[in-house]
Amino acid sequence: MKLNIAVLPGDGVGPEVTREAVRVLRAVSDFCGYDFRFEEYPIGGQASLDLGSPFPAQTRERCLAASAVLLGAVGGPQFDSLSAERRPEAGLLALRQALGCFANLRPAIAFESISGCSPLRPERILGANILIVRELLGGLYFAEPRAFDVASKSAWNTMRYSEQEIERVARVAFKLAQGRGKKLVSVDKANVLETSRLWRQVVTRIAAEFTDVALEHALVDSFAMNVITYPTRYDVVLTENLFGDILSDETAVIAGSLGMLPSASIGGKVDLYEPIHGSAPDIAGKGIANPIGAIASAAMLLRHTAKLNNEADCIEAAIDQVLKSGMRTADLLPPAERARAASTAEIGQRIAEATVDALNSRMAYFAV
Ligand code: NAD
Repeated sequence: MKLNIAVLPGDGVGPEVTREAVRVLRAVSDFCGYDFRFEEYPIGGQASLDLGSPFPAQTRERCLAASAVLLGAVGGPQFDSLSAERRPEAGLLALRQALGCFANLRPAIAFESISGCSPLRPERILGANILIVRELLGGLYFAEPRAFDVASKSAWNTMRYSEQEIERVARVAFKLAQGRGKKLVSVDKANVLETSRLWRQVVTRIAAEFTDVALEHALVDSFAMNVITYPTRYDVVLTENLFGDILSDETAVIAGSLGMLPSASIGGKVDLYEPIHGSAPDIAGKGIANPIGAIASAAMLLRHTAKLNNEADCIEAAIDQVLKSGMRTADLLPPAERARAASTAEIGQRIAEATVDALNSRMAYFAV
């Protein structure tokens, strides 16, 4: 098995957490005798300062030639004064557009091993296993016109969706629901927005192709309350770009920390994997960021791009085992216990070792 992985560490904690994801992937590659290759390319704010672009041409070219892209995060207050096209986030949007990944999968699971890390009551969240499918290439983040118009002292963005953009992401979400709990809630704001009325119409039409999946529609405002109050009610959540961005950060509360959540962006030329969090400037450079979102993104890469389900399962089992052992980064500990927190590198190293142990046990099991 050969994989050429383009690694884009980015800014802030991005390099710290991707280093650990690569460590775990290398451990899998070495143990299984695979040929995983990793090449790093610049993206984000620092790339913009050093090279004049937050998504340099060489990064674009190498990502398009890769088997998959593993991204850290971009952004930070030191880049706030850059012009709109040189801002780190412009690089991220350009990357997603270049790869053509229109479906962003964001799982949020309330693992028993971190019961107590969430501020929500354990009995409310245990068993919660939500998959947000966020449309990634349309809506307010991309549609034109958009402007920050100093002369008129106003600014505007455009919310626009075509039927085709909604159909393709809806099919991805329904197919995923078929392989899970067979329930899909489509979240919109159809009482106010025309784009949401189109969204609802199209999703309802696509549902006829997936008669084994129960479809429910919800308005984003009340859904935002319900998903955190009754998280075990939900299975697959399909929604547009901005709503998905916000709701997935909200579901991080179920998983205990923003640092826990991975993502996969699929459907385009090359798949993109990244933790859902940002560059966390408040903790960058301290070696304390939680690398689990990035490591779990690496597991998603093995499952979705490389079809290495067994290896992906072993990484996920290793994450669970390390958390069960009580080892955790500061974000998963109450303030009074943070002195015992493990560093980013310690967690990464332990998960890499536990992944190899899990691969070993599976080999021994199948050899019997
Ligand atoms: P953030 O996700 O960076 O941080 C929010 C909070 O979560 C912070 O308190 C941070 O310390 C904590 N956190 C985040 N990741 C963590 C981790 N791995 N371990 C422990 N704690 C973690 O969001 P923000 O502060 O709103 O944004 C900071 C910068 O990141 C901004 O420039 C924003 O534009 C950018 N951003 C980038 C992405 C991306 O690259 N995909 C996504 C969101 C935000």
